[in-house]
Amino acid sequence: MTVLYSELQVAGWAETGDRIGLDDVTYRADNDKAFTLPCHIADPEIFFADSDLEINAAKSLCAPCPMRSACLEGALSRQEPCGVWGGELFEDGQVVARKRRPGRPPREVEKSGNEVAA
Ligand code: SF4
Repeated sequence: MTVLYSELQVAGWAETGDRIGLDDVTYRADNDKAFTLPCHIADPEIFFADSDLEINAAKSLCAPCPMRSACLEGALSRQEPCGVWGGELFEDGQVVARKRRPGRPPREVEKSGNEVAA
């Protein structure tokens, strides 16, 4: 069985019966279909990468995936802690536009170019 990043963060998570939507997109001995999905053919590391380049590459691989809707729905239900699922980037169970970087958040800049207090 594939070890999901979620399992590394929450030990035993996938064994609790909360595998909502995972059976169709993860490897099981009786599920040959999973082997044909883009995330099982490509380097799985890019689905949990830090760089925008790799994250966008993972999202592009999800685009034509026949399991995209089910994958996204499952990831939302499970509140995936991280990774690209169903063509979206997750952080702390939420879909986010970009990966948060360590350190202070960037200051917001008005259209005029003036910095705005957060
Ligand atoms: S949508 Fe993306 S992460 Fe989900 S099964 Fe397809 S390729 Fe894998």
